[in-house]
Amino acid sequence: MSYVEQVISSCEEKFPHQVYFLQALREILESLKVEISHNPIYEKYAILERLVVPERSIAFRVPWVDDCGRVRVNQGYRIEFNSALGPYKGGLRFHPSVNEDVIKFLGFEQILKNSLTTLRMGGGKGGSDFDPKGKSENEVMRFCQSFMNELYRHIGDHTDIPAGDIGVGGREVGFLFGQYKRLSNRFDGVLTGKGVEWGGSLVRKEATGYGSVYFAQAMLEAEGKSLEGKVCCVSGSGNVAIYTIEKLYALGAKPVTASDSKGMIYDQEGIDLELLKEIKEVRRASLEEYAQIKKSAIYTSVSEYPQGQNAVWSVPCFAAFPSATQNELNILDAQTLLKNGCQCVSEGANMPCTQEATNLFVDSKICYGPAKAANAGGVATSGLEMMQNASMSIWTFDEVDAKLLKIMRGIFAQIKAVAQEFNDEKNLVLGANIAGFRKVAKAMIDQGVV
Ligand code: GLU
Repeated sequence: MSYVEQVISSCEEKFPHQVYFLQALREILESLKVEISHNPIYEKYAILERLVVPERSIAFRVPWVDDCGRVRVNQGYRIEFNSALGPYKGGLRFHPSVNEDVIKFLGFEQILKNSLTTLRMGGGKGGSDFDPKGKSENEVMRFCQSFMNELYRHIGDHTDIPAGDIGVGGREVGFLFGQYKRLSNRFDGVLTGKGVEWGGSLVRKEATGYGSVYFAQAMLEAEGKSLEGKVCCVSGSGNVAIYTIEKLYALGAKPVTASDSKGMIYDQEGIDLELLKEIKEVRRASLEEYAQIKKSAIYTSVSEYPQGQNAVWSVPCFAAFPSATQNELNILDAQTLLKNGCQCVSEGANMPCTQEATNLFVDSKICYGPAKAANAGGVATSGLEMMQNASMSIWTFDEVDAKLLKIMRGIFAQIKAVAQEFNDEKNLVLGANIAGFRKVAKAMIDQGVV
């Protein structure tokens, strides 16, 4: 059994129920095989055994009182996975599906994603099974305050810097920051995604979506293609999806879909961005309302989706932007997309494609941007927020946007070069995993057995 296989099978034995973590682990470690077999130094220093175990993993109780006076309890997590390249950095996810497995897979991916940004950030992730949906503003605030009552002792602007993810946006970051400040008596850059008036960076809100489109643009340009005039499918309707749609319009493309947990809309005239923002960012309502207001749109509820498929991916498109959640695009969806002529997939969400779908996209040699590269714009701009906080400066929207574009193009060039080294130029999964891993492994070797 090879070194890589030994590490995979030992994790399978120890954590048989952590299906998402094992999925991410297999995807990453399989593509490291070539790199590892040429470099025995990794085995000598037990780099893989160390990489797959978080440096610290915190699980905690989050009690809070709802508007009816009832005491509620949720589970909180923060996994501080790897600090070889810098302080732990990664978002917090508040969603009922959150458990240790989900946070562990996200944290593991984050190590390599952050490495690809070339900024000095280690990998971490956290969250809770709390569902902000349907809760009042006061309930969300009380929950965030209780969450921070435990988290504050583990984080710091040079230790661990959380941010947003699914269910955690500007509102939640504000409540979390307020409580951190009260407990620690410090006003520092301990969280990113802050309000722009009190330390946040311009473009942070837009960054993951913009970055995913910049990445698609870079992949396509390398083949003499562009997004201009092209029909695109986007899933999700959160931060990532909304700003993916915004940037697609800016580049002359036509995004025609969006989705939420209840269903999807197909608007052949192109998604009405202002209406989408009004429904999702202001009213926090269901997408069904979009189709009631805009008559060119067709709404399909999840119960009407074709068996075992996501209806978003059955709309013919040139480029697909999965921007909702993990495993939202399976092998059947991937086959449908390819059959309909899709030539580009850029992952705005974390691990949105199942392993089989990923393999099919890689084998088909279309432009396929894996999440840890394509959606790195969010955390990269968090890195830019940290830089502004540290130097007490404020950069303009255009300055930050230009830096984001440069970082996304840099990631593409970096991972394409590594893929080329292995004579597999179009395999950006291989390129991203090896390029991200090399820097972390080198830092771990330099820093000794810690
Ligand atoms: N949650 C985002 C991600 O998955 C951003 C994390 C951050 O800004 O720290 O990368």
